[in-house]
Amino acid sequence: MKLRRLLIYSFPIQFLAVATISFFPDFVTKHYTFGAYQSFAAMLRKLSGLTSFPIGQFVFYALLMLLVVLITREGYAYRKRSKSAKMAIKHAAINAGALLSLVYFALMCVWGLNYFQRSLADKLGYEVKQEYSQSELEQLTDELIDTCNALRTEVQTDEAGVFTTGLSTEELFEQSIQAYQSLPKSYQIFDYHTPSIKAVKIPQLMSFFGVSGIYFPFTGEANVNMDIPEVLLPSTITHEMSHQIGVAEEGEANYLAYVSCINHPEISFQYSGNYLALHYCLRSLYRMDSLSYKIRKQNCHPGIRRDARHLQKYWRSYQNPIEPWTDQFYDFFLKANQQKKGIESYSGVVALIIAHKRRGFRSI
Ligand SMILES: [Zn+2]
Repeated sequence: MKLRRLLIYSFPIQFLAVATISFFPDFVTKHYTFGAYQSFAAMLRKLSGLTSFPIGQFVFYALLMLLVVLITREGYAYRKRSKSAKMAIKHAAINAGALLSLVYFALMCVWGLNYFQRSLADKLGYEVKQEYSQSELEQLTDELIDTCNALRTEVQTDEAGVFTTGLSTEELFEQSIQAYQSLPKSYQIFDYHTPSIKAVKIPQLMSFFGVSGIYFPFTGEANVNMDIPEVLLPSTITHEMSHQIGVAEEGEANYLAYVSCINHPEISFQYSGNYLALHYCLRSLYRMDSLSYKIRKQNCHPGIRRDARHLQKYWRSYQNPIEPWTDQFYDFFLKANQQKKGIESYSGVVALIIAHKRRGFRSI
């Protein structure tokens, strides 16, 4: 009991320590993201990469089950002995609090400090304006529509006319590693090595929670839900891979997915990367000017609209009362780690691509 109380009391101290570290992004970038993190994350990937079995997924479910067991079983046992519901609840709360404190501590050590590194834009020398203008957004959207329209006529489709990569899971993983090879080696942040990419078991369970991929920091694995519509498979795999090399912010991870895919020789990767960017541009445009959004949506190739409907239909088929809670929890987690926009930070990719274009680079 003493250890459990100690863990709970250490919680505010941990928060305070992390909050203090967050004031030193240069230190975090140099000594953690590009320092200690690279070494132990690569070591974890080397070990977990020995098998194609998604170890992290099972550790994750085991931790969840352990939390439920600690809250319920021991609480019940205590209640039996003390016959006091109040004490039982207190006891269960202590158990859960101690476990959460331990997990938080471990998470901050193996991954969490990456949230406090310098921004990717800063590392790439981009001038990012979060408040980009409507005309800038429309221009980028139009460019992406043109690119996607051209690519869509050349990609493979299934019998329903929906995009397919035509690649097996193993080939997709192999090609995703290739995607990072196309990025310039002059930037340390693009240096991907020691792969450990896994297809999750029972992917439908992940879809139930609205998740397409998870980086599991305790094993260094990029866990991917291979059941999602194929239009997002290459960009999802490369997104999760970016987390492996220390990119924490979700908009930045989407940006790495975008640049690694669009520079890939494989056309299905180019389409997936451009589709991802187009998806976020159209979403942002819808909020700014719904009429402009509608016009641009109509300019998309019928095949692109079919892929979008297929994607929408897929996620709708998994709609359930629990999924919004998962989103809210993740939103809270991101905000607690100074990702001010929470779950909306995925859209940060738009500002990064606009900055990328402003620099006049066709490819980075
Ligand atoms: Zn992510």
